[in-house]
Amino acid sequence: MAAWPAPPDSGQYARDHGPARRRRVCKGGSVDGNHQPVDSGVERLHGKVSLAEGLKVRFWGVRGSISCPGAEYARYGGNTSCLEVTAGGRRLIFDAGTGIRTLGVELARQAPLDLDIYFTHTHLDHISGLTFFAPLFERRNSVRMWAGHLEAPYTLKKVVGHLMQAPLYPVSLDVFQASVEFREFTAGETLSCGTIGLRTASLHHPNGATGYRIDYRDKSICYITDTEHHEGQRDQTIVDLCRGADVMIYDSSYTDEEYARYRGWGHSTWQEGVRIADAADVGTLAIFHHDPSHDDAFMDGVAREAAALRPGTAANGLPRVVVAHEGLTLSP
Ligand SMILES: [Zn+2]
Ligand SMILES: [Zn+2]
Repeated sequence: MAAWPAPPDSGQYARDHGPARRRRVCKGGSVDGNHQPVDSGVERLHGKVSLAEGLKVRFWGVRGSISCPGAEYARYGGNTSCLEVTAGGRRLIFDAGTGIRTLGVELARQAPLDLDIYFTHTHLDHISGLTFFAPLFERRNSVRMWAGHLEAPYTLKKVVGHLMQAPLYPVSLDVFQASVEFREFTAGETLSCGTIGLRTASLHHPNGATGYRIDYRDKSICYITDTEHHEGQRDQTIVDLCRGADVMIYDSSYTDEEYARYRGWGHSTWQEGVRIADAADVGTLAIFHHDPSHDDAFMDGVAREAAALRPGTAANGLPRVVVAHEGLTLSP
C-alpha cells in the first residue's frame, strides 16, 4: 500500500486523527494505520499466526450501502462493512461486506481455523462478501455464523441460501467445504465467545439490526451500525449498551445537514455519534459506514470537524474520535 497522505492539517491533529502512517502508542492504547494484519508482529508458530491476547479491532471494510472503488476513495477505502476483533486467543468477525474478502486472503494460509461471524443484519452491504471468504472453502475450518435480527419465516441459513440461489448466484451453499453452522439469537440476549462477553441490543433499522458490545477483561468495543436516530433525542438503548465503553464504532452515514434528505433509510450522522458518545461517556468514537458519496477529501473534512468537537485523547490512550479507514487497528 502506498503511504497514506496525512489530512490537510498539521501537527497534533494530523498525528491523532488522520489515517496514520506509523504505529502510535500512548498510555497503553494504540492506533495502527498500516496494512499489516491485526496480529502481525506476534510470534509465528508452526506457520500459524498466534492470536494477540489483548482486545483489538481491525477494519477491513468501512463503507456503507455499496462498495466504491476509485482513486478518490483510496485512503479511507471503498469496501463495505467488515471488522475483525481478536482477544483471548479468539477471532470474531463482524459483518461480511466486501471487506471480508481481503481478510479471507489473509486467513487462508492459517487453516485449521475456528471462526465466528456475527452479523448486524443481512442487508447486502453486510453479507455480499461472504461467498468470497476463502476460509469457507477449506475443509479443515469451522465457521459459525450468528444473527439476532431475523424473524420467522426467515433464518440465517435461508437468507444466505437465497443469496446463493439461481439466477442470482452460480453455486449453492453446498459449495462450502468448511464445517458451517448457522445460529440464531434474539437481539438483546447476552452471548459469549470463549472468555469474551458479547452484549447485544436491537437497533432502529428497516428489517432490524443488532448492536454489539464486546467485553474482554476491562476493555470494551461497541459496534453500532446500521441505526437511525430520533432527532433531538438520544437512543437510550444504545446509550445503555455503550456506557463507559473504550471504543464505539457508530453508523455515521450522513452529516446532520444531509440527514433531512434521508429520513427513513435507517442511518445516522457522525454528529449524532458525537452526542451519543458524550452521553454514554465513551472513550473513543469511531466514525464508520461512510456514505459512497463521501470521498477522501470529504472524510478529511469530517475528521477535522469531529476532532474540533471531541478534541484530545481518551483515558484508554486513543484519540477521542477517529474516522475509520481500511487497515486501521484500534487497541484500547
Ligand atoms: Zn449498511
Ligand atoms: Zn442496513
